[in-house]
Amino acid sequence: MTVIVKKYGGTSVSSISKIKKIANQIAVEKKEPNDILVVLSAMGDTTDKLVQMSNKSCKDPEPRELDMLLSSGEQVSISLLSLILNDIGVKATSLTGWQAGIKTNSQSMSARISSIDVKRIKSEFKKNSVVIVAGFQGINNKGDITTLGRGGSDTTAVALAAALKASECQIFTDVDGVYTTDPRICSNARKLDLLTYEEMLEMSGLGSKVLQLRSVEFASKHNVPIRVLNAHKGNNFGTLIKKEEKKMEGATISGIAFTKDEAEITIKGVKDQPGVAAKILGPIGDAKIEVDMIVQNVGSNGLADFTFTVSRNTLKNAMKVIEKNKKIMSYESVSSKNNIVKVSIVGVGMRSHAGIAGRMFKCLAKNKVNIRMISTSEIKISVVIDQKNLEIAVQALHNEFKLNKK
Ligand code: ADP
Ligand code: ASP
Ligand code: MG
Repeated sequence: MTVIVKKYGGTSVSSISKIKKIANQIAVEKKEPNDILVVLSAMGDTTDKLVQMSNKSCKDPEPRELDMLLSSGEQVSISLLSLILNDIGVKATSLTGWQAGIKTNSQSMSARISSIDVKRIKSEFKKNSVVIVAGFQGINNKGDITTLGRGGSDTTAVALAAALKASECQIFTDVDGVYTTDPRICSNARKLDLLTYEEMLEMSGLGSKVLQLRSVEFASKHNVPIRVLNAHKGNNFGTLIKKEEKKMEGATISGIAFTKDEAEITIKGVKDQPGVAAKILGPIGDAKIEVDMIVQNVGSNGLADFTFTVSRNTLKNAMKVIEKNKKIMSYESVSSKNNIVKVSIVGVGMRSHAGIAGRMFKCLAKNKVNIRMISTSEIKISVVIDQKNLEIAVQALHNEFKLNKK
């Protein structure tokens, strides 16, 4: 029998009436002899509310207890969908992550799936049940509940699709598919029909949260095609994300991603000599703070300025580490700026087209957008700019690379 895996995100299950609509769609599909596995997120902004409740309860939550709390939202949505399906005559069983056999490592709040034992799921399929699995959660080898990081239900769905050898993993959300850029910021954004894993990895990694980055990594590793679709529109093609094939002629630029959670740190007056980067970034790395872009300005009098970006929620901690290590790092002053953003253009076609970077920088200059930092890879170019220029930059680049709706 064909196995179909369908994941519905928070906005798609934010009310009983929306869950009922999904139940009706599943009931129609169940008329065909398919095994259907559904992965659900928590209803609406439940997970955000649970985080707020934890923040109100204590200053420094115990990670194990936070996993326990945050995983509770999905248990509500899966049982409701199961109740509704059973009520309309479709046999259904809801399963928590551990009941579905999802084992993870012990990294609270961002656990990685280590293995999946699909025995229980298959036995439910044998009873002709639709199986509904709680997204975003698993169990570690101590038997404790873990969670997979925000947006982690995407990863649950892709991992189950791989384990069950489903032909594709359908991710239902509140937009028609993956767009050239976030449709919430650019009304001209166009839905893409096809993307390669590589392009989607860059888009997700650079801020397009329509799919959790890990779900795309998992899909690419196990070669599971992902289709992103609108939860409340029937018969749409959505966006298919799959392995690059020779005949897939990539657009030069397929999309523009951005992140608003960047912060910049500048350390002035460091010694312009070998080993200085290691002296600064060593303690930062030891504090488990991830650094993204790095620039060192050529200095004068043997001194230089060292600038790098970190994610905004680690800025305070990074500044503490730098101040604590002033002697080792040996600098004159340190300052930070958090009203910056990173904008990136992505496309496999960039490999075979020269001059893309020049076009990007010229376009930004024409629109009076100052570039603070640049980084490139084979299929992306990222720039750090002031936050106030985000919309103008995204829209100008969207025009420049002819990504607008036709
Ligand atoms: P879900 O609750 O279904 O998991 P998410 O909020 O995680 O949904 O993802 C869908 C949202 O992703 C859209 O509403 C959209 O604003 C945002 N988004 C960001 N970048 C893109 C993009 N390139 N294409 C489509 N949606 C995007
Ligand atoms: N409910 C979790 C979150 O809001 C997981 C998910 O929706 O994918 O992050
Ligand atoms: Mg999501």
